[in-house]
Amino acid sequence: MNTCHFKRGALPVCLSFLSALCITNVQAADAAKKEPWQLAQETEVWEPVPPVIQASANAAPSDAIVLFDGKNLNQWQAAEGGGAAGWKIADGAVTVTPKKGDIKTKESFCDVQLHIEWKTPTNFIGDDGKPQESQGRSNSGVFFQERYEIQVLDSYNNKTYPNGQVGSVYKQSIPLVNAARAPGEWQTYDIVFTAPKFDSAQKLTAPGYVTVLHNGVLVQNHFEIQGATEWIGKPVYKAHGCAPLRLQDHGNLVSFRNIWVRKL
Ligand code: MG
Repeated sequence: MNTCHFKRGALPVCLSFLSALCITNVQAADAAKKEPWQLAQETEVWEPVPPVIQASANAAPSDAIVLFDGKNLNQWQAAEGGGAAGWKIADGAVTVTPKKGDIKTKESFCDVQLHIEWKTPTNFIGDDGKPQESQGRSNSGVFFQERYEIQVLDSYNNKTYPNGQVGSVYKQSIPLVNAARAPGEWQTYDIVFTAPKFDSAQKLTAPGYVTVLHNGVLVQNHFEIQGATEWIGKPVYKAHGCAPLRLQDHGNLVSFRNIWVRKL
């Protein structure tokens, strides 16, 4: 009820206001009667209960899909042509094998958490006898949905354009810091990727986002992806569905190990 009575020379008295005031007073009185633990219970949420997983040190979480455990490339194929992935495996790692081309997962993914370890070679002398520099030194890349590259590069004492250095969203976002380790040392990427969404008319309805930890350090913080990462030209979105994870053959001997994803 929202009724107000008017009297000459007096303030209007509203029943709805009095009613609300009355209820508030009752609630306050009830609250005053309760013990603190009873009040605390009112904001406890008991459902749903998160599933239990095993998250052991130095092992993939039990709910992860292991994409490479050092033994074989059964989960991978050549990115072009769909034949067998031709990169060499040795000592529990797989190394880019130049001219074999990119490799990609057989399975397609949308939103994921990815863990991947990689190492750049200590010898980065080019065919011309000079040290490779800038983008030419130990370049590879982790592509989400075959389109969105997180750069892999030897950025240890190697100047290049910052939006193309290690930890960058290639040509879109400079990393917050350079957390590069020296060549020959294993490094880690832990990446949360949220896929862009498109409607039935192929129109973008939500951009992609990416958060990247390089060697445990935050280098991309929920960056809004601008479109496919391009070497030349501005990024643009073109509608697509879930798609494979892709690793780049840029002609350099970059190695990878311990690759796993969790679907989100
Ligand atoms: Mg690259």
